[in-house]
Amino acid sequence: MAMKRKEGIGVSPGIAIAQAVMIDNEEFDIPERHVPVDHAQSELDRLNQATEISQQEIRDLQARTVERIGKEAASIFDFHLGLLNDTVLHQKFKETILSGHVTAEYAVATVLRGYAREFLSMPQYLAERVKDVYDIEKRLLRNLTGQRRQSLSHLTRDVIVIAHDLTPSQTAGMDRDHIKGIITDAGGATSHTAIVARALGIPAVVGLNDITTDAAGGDTIIVDGHRGSVVVQPDDDTREQYQRYARQQTEFIDSLDALQALPAVTKDGHDISLLGNIEFPEEVQSVLKKGGLGVGLYRTEFLFLGSDTEPTEEDHFHAYQQVIEVCGDRPVIIRTLDLGADKYTQSRARTPERNPFLGLRSIRFCLQNIPMFKRQVRAILRAAVHGDVQMLFPLITNITELRQAKSIVNDVIEDLEEEGIEHRPDIPIGIMIETPSAAIQTDAYAKEVDFLSIGTNDLVQYTLAVDRTNERVASLFTAAHPAVLKLIRDVIRVGQQQDVPVSLCGEIAADPEFTLLLLGLGLRRFSCTPPAIPEIKQVIRSVTIQQALDVARQVSRLDSAAEILSYLRSVTRKILPEVYTE
Ligand code: PEP
Ligand code: MG
Repeated sequence: MAMKRKEGIGVSPGIAIAQAVMIDNEEFDIPERHVPVDHAQSELDRLNQATEISQQEIRDLQARTVERIGKEAASIFDFHLGLLNDTVLHQKFKETILSGHVTAEYAVATVLRGYAREFLSMPQYLAERVKDVYDIEKRLLRNLTGQRRQSLSHLTRDVIVIAHDLTPSQTAGMDRDHIKGIITDAGGATSHTAIVARALGIPAVVGLNDITTDAAGGDTIIVDGHRGSVVVQPDDDTREQYQRYARQQTEFIDSLDALQALPAVTKDGHDISLLGNIEFPEEVQSVLKKGGLGVGLYRTEFLFLGSDTEPTEEDHFHAYQQVIEVCGDRPVIIRTLDLGADKYTQSRARTPERNPFLGLRSIRFCLQNIPMFKRQVRAILRAAVHGDVQMLFPLITNITELRQAKSIVNDVIEDLEEEGIEHRPDIPIGIMIETPSAAIQTDAYAKEVDFLSIGTNDLVQYTLAVDRTNERVASLFTAAHPAVLKLIRDVIRVGQQQDVPVSLCGEIAADPEFTLLLLGLGLRRFSCTPPAIPEIKQVIRSVTIQQALDVARQVSRLDSAAEILSYLRSVTRKILPEVYTE
């Protein structure tokens, strides 16, 4: 196959070159993928194995249903078993694989969807069978792809994972030794899968639209997570070119290691506080290793990762202790659960929300699940005895939410006092400014909190009405929009006027193209993903506040994101030419 270049959204930097492995997802259309003629038998074998597993699963399910509900309810599974045993169906699978040279997944999807269409055109009582057909399709596909997923955890060679989309749990479960890159059809720059990929240091490009059809398992793939490019089946020259980029990047990263012990201070002597964002307690090591002064954002919802049950108070406490132990007396800002929307609850919800980013997420979810919220607040207050812990509430949209959350903290303090459990009652409390309503009303909030943290990922999404996870509108998602910048500027100003510290922990804190502008808008506390800390420090150490003010003034005269971005790029290119190797 000829070389193909694709552009997507680079969400985790680094260059990787390896062979592709495809992860199918039962939720989306299985693309037509061809296999060499001599692979047909192994596709048939995989299909037979998946059929046997599916039959066994259904028999087990049937037996459990008989026990719990009765024989009659369990009889629905007779249809499933009957269909899976049907020789005509298996003949059709076989013919599809042999004549089309396609994967078992594709054969299952096309043949069973054909069956479903036939049932739909039948009398009502048979049309109901359509759901059963889809059920069987899903089960077979899960068992087929499950075999592949399993093999992903026992890899013996380096691979690039291709998928339509991944959940944060799938990404986090990946074998980091062998999974060198991730590329997906869907996703946006600040989706949580992207955040996890970055945390794990796996180069990733998302929003490629149709990479699952343009590439196949076994293809050689180049992933350039910095530029957002992917090359399928590169020729020798391209391969060498990317190997050269990779070497240049490694040299640049190594050269930044020297900054680790140096302060983040501007050329004219202004101290900037540079902290790290973490998702997993282990990441705290890399915050310090990269020269961060503490944890500016601990996203605790990742405690839900890989587990179907809610973490206990002790689970929370243990995780926080781990971070505090490493940080000593450095700040650790623990954000209370930001569940909902793209973070965990949707995929598990019995009735998924139609508009989850505007739904029951974050602080709203906590205020409707008070026992869960209290368990976390107890753990934070207990852990706060051991370090400089601060508590941060996400997605505040009205002052009542802040007051309710604070009143729950007070209730928990009373409980802990009554129980004689050690805790810190005067813990500093802050809120995320990540909705336009919070930004516009910052002055009111500033009177009732100890600090503010600007979350540009959500602030951009809600100000510009652009879903942060949707690749189709990804080009509209930018913090360089003048309306977003105006909000950021105003929040920082109000913080200065009221003497309330303001930090910024959205992804632009990790983007060197925004550093000068943010300094010029008055920001003095940045929190970003640990690998980006040295680069941001490098920019800070190379400029003066006067320069930053000039940049901010220049930007305020421009009225489009495109002009602002291109101006910021040209300024940053002068400071950090190494990042822009072409
Ligand atoms: C943000 O919204 O900018 C933020 C930092 O929070 P998260 O990305 O976890 O939503
Ligand atoms: Mg947010």
